[in-house]
Amino acid sequence: MIQKPRGTQDLFLNSAAEWNAVEEKFRKVLNLFNYGEIITPMFESKELFVRGVGDTSDIVSKEMYEFTDKKGREFVLRPEGTAPTVRALIENKLYIPENLPYKTFYIGPIFRYERPQAGRYRQFNQLGVETFGLDSLNHDIELISLGDSFLKELNIEKDIIVQINYLVTGEERKKYEEQLKKYILSIKNICDDCQKRFKKNVLRILDCKIDSSKVKNGPKMFEFATENNKERLNETFRQLKEMGLKVEIDFNLVRGLDYYTGLVFEFKNIKTNQAIIAGGSYNNLVEELGGPSIPASGFAIGLERIMLILNEQKIKVVEEKEIELFIIPLSEQAQKLTNKLMLEARRKNLKIDTNWNIKNLKNGFKSAEKAKAKNILVIGDNSIANNQYSIKPQLTGEPVELKYNQIISYLKGEK
Ligand code: ATP
Ligand code: MG
Repeated sequence: MIQKPRGTQDLFLNSAAEWNAVEEKFRKVLNLFNYGEIITPMFESKELFVRGVGDTSDIVSKEMYEFTDKKGREFVLRPEGTAPTVRALIENKLYIPENLPYKTFYIGPIFRYERPQAGRYRQFNQLGVETFGLDSLNHDIELISLGDSFLKELNIEKDIIVQINYLVTGEERKKYEEQLKKYILSIKNICDDCQKRFKKNVLRILDCKIDSSKVKNGPKMFEFATENNKERLNETFRQLKEMGLKVEIDFNLVRGLDYYTGLVFEFKNIKTNQAIIAGGSYNNLVEELGGPSIPASGFAIGLERIMLILNEQKIKVVEEKEIELFIIPLSEQAQKLTNKLMLEARRKNLKIDTNWNIKNLKNGFKSAEKAKAKNILVIGDNSIANNQYSIKPQLTGEPVELKYNQIISYLKGEK
């Protein structure tokens, strides 16, 4: 038997429906916040991520699905959604002043060669949000409250906290990194990856899944921030708290991607200690990728991790539409009429069904029961000859006698 690739999923029956329902809720919330959707390719030039995400990040250094096409060009299946959005912003000149602030979102698969485990796949899906041309305290707060609104829309409230931090940049970053290096030299036994990180990008060590705890007591980046930025983070914290979010400042929070500047945040599932939403501001990326200098920020939601929580907490997102009518045709002539009636009804937006394998009343009723339809209609040659159709509502069981051309308006509740 041929099996699916490791770290991927098949979705069917209810799980596929729940999946789509979550996406639709996301679209609904983003529409309320006045964001428009962007759709970009699933593969991109490898260089986009090497330059955008940074070659010392785990994503670029070991997790990309890479391939060369027939002309030897180097591509990757996209390992994240921000760099592609910025690429599209620049390539399509979406940054022109009349478009700013530009607020957009995407939904789609992301590919990373990781060790699969609960909530960690090799193909997973992100619901992502990006904004261009905004950099202010109010925007930071609105962005985080957008993530919160989406979770509330899904009724996910339990066990989630928001952690925020502020990454310093420029001269302050250099000073901090010097101090961090000094501290790290004073501790022993850091992992092989961290030894490389020490040389190439020391901040990465704070995000190491093995050794990050060893630097917890080291210098705090926040102490290197300007007074303005310190105040901005504290005020973000205060206002989010006032709005009722469970929020905390985590001075060791850094993100796994190099492009972040300033605010960073994660919504964490405290039961599994996994991030379900992660993001922040990345004010240099547009310029670094060849566009103008405009501030930017955003976040990505892991759809599989949302699905895990919904399953755990037994939250149903799909609003299932009942079948209005299930037809049991008892002859060839009745089957022909059933097809005609179903087509007419479906054109009027009625959900209606039959089962062409029905052989007799008994298995007809079995099928109807399984379909959990609101109404049942048995059609035999007699009903056709007399133009008399007896519709039985499952709940009351009290049949309603109708002529053929009354059936649809009856089902639509027009009579
Ligand atoms: P983690 O620390 O869990 O590896 P990350 O820092 O790599 O996450 P981001 O690159 O910021 O995550 O991606 C944003 C979100 O996408 C994460 O918060 C998570 O919900 C989800 N995500 C990341 N990697 C995976 C994966 N391999 N499988 C499923 N979801 C993922
Ligand atoms: Mg990761």
